[in-house]
Amino acid sequence: MDLLVVGGGGREHAIIKKLKENPVVETIYALPGNGGIAADAVCVPQISATDIGAIVDFAVSHAVGFAVVAPDDPLALGCVDALHAAGIPCFGPDARAARIESSKVFAKDLMKKYHIPTARYEVFDTPAAALAYLKTASFPIVIKADGLALGKGVLISRSYEEAEDAVRTMMEDRAFGDSGSRVVIEEFLTGPEVSVLAFTDGTAIAPMVSSMDHKRVGDGDTGPNTGGMGTVAPNPCYTEDIARVCMDTIFLPTLAAMRAESCPFKGCLYFGLMLTPDGPKVIEYNCRFGDPETQVVLPLLKTDLLTVMQAVESETLGSLTVEWRHASAACVILASGGYPGHYEKGKPISLPASAPGNVTIYHAGDRLDENGQLVTSGGRVLGVTATGPTLRQALHDAYAAARAVDFDGKYLRHDIGQRALAALAD
Ligand code: AMP
Repeated sequence: MDLLVVGGGGREHAIIKKLKENPVVETIYALPGNGGIAADAVCVPQISATDIGAIVDFAVSHAVGFAVVAPDDPLALGCVDALHAAGIPCFGPDARAARIESSKVFAKDLMKKYHIPTARYEVFDTPAAALAYLKTASFPIVIKADGLALGKGVLISRSYEEAEDAVRTMMEDRAFGDSGSRVVIEEFLTGPEVSVLAFTDGTAIAPMVSSMDHKRVGDGDTGPNTGGMGTVAPNPCYTEDIARVCMDTIFLPTLAAMRAESCPFKGCLYFGLMLTPDGPKVIEYNCRFGDPETQVVLPLLKTDLLTVMQAVESETLGSLTVEWRHASAACVILASGGYPGHYEKGKPISLPASAPGNVTIYHAGDRLDENGQLVTSGGRVLGVTATGPTLRQALHDAYAAARAVDFDGKYLRHDIGQRALAALAD
């Protein structure tokens, strides 16, 4: 069977490598893919992940047996709806269900209506109304653009002045375009953060191994937010007791709420959780695999990924047992110096000739130049993942492999997993 994967980052590389483990899989097409993915799939760089018409034409003309739509933009644009309409089975939510990520107002209103624990909030359509509300608010407070904003649409303000700045940046300067024409202002929560991705067919749910992200660019969680500088799995803060509470108060109620709103969610639902003193609360939903969470979670999946995805598509997930390895995984992101601000591209990448069996290098932002040399082409360039019997071992091996990779301006955090190790020691 030939497969198609929409997207071209580290997450898509992790999905493709896992799909390849199934012997029925022949060719995997990646639209657009990237330089490193080209070693595992047939990349089609001329078709972007948001060119829905071209994606559907490609899937039909290449008689693709199953498609996976990984990034948020094509999901919000209805890529799954269009593929289904053309008769292509695929993994991912339709556009109505993808609103759980593409509109924060939709997600917050859903949680309020169905009593799913989350931060208290108000929604504003005009800067004047938002600023009037902020005059009476207590700080810190969190201001979120309603729409998709490349993970940058959340600003935490410690004073009225900072909050006013945030509102004007989003609503008047349109820093995030139309995504900021409405804002959500919400209560600031505290507690450890946990990411839980889950396979769901709309009714049954199979949560994946939990993970811990490192969003800030600098060691010690300093500097601006990024797409993620590393991850570890499992997250030691996410105990079995907490997992049970999340299942009962968050996961199952969210699926029921989506069904009740006539937009059942099928695909990978990402729960960004905060374990507050009042219990677990939802910080955000994503309608897709997280990046780089996927790069630590999928290597721990024992069950065949294509089988799981097909069970989601055919709504038979409830009769499948999804199994996980009892091991740890760590991913260290190698970024271009200057990211998330300005950075240079086109730097040749040197990779070790071979890597230990427990190490995988996922390619996120690179391309092959005219001489077939891998060169950098994005902010996050590579994700170096290692699995191991303990988190400490996984981290050791991931960092050893990360040191063996080189490109001009290579930047990485040196403290990925340290918070998790400290939590394990408690
Ligand atoms: P999001 O893009 O919604 O995941 O938000 C980015 C980051 O902002 C989260 O990972 C949290 O660290 C932080 N954040 C978002 N909402 C809140 C909140 N209500 N209270 C405290 N921190 C928050």
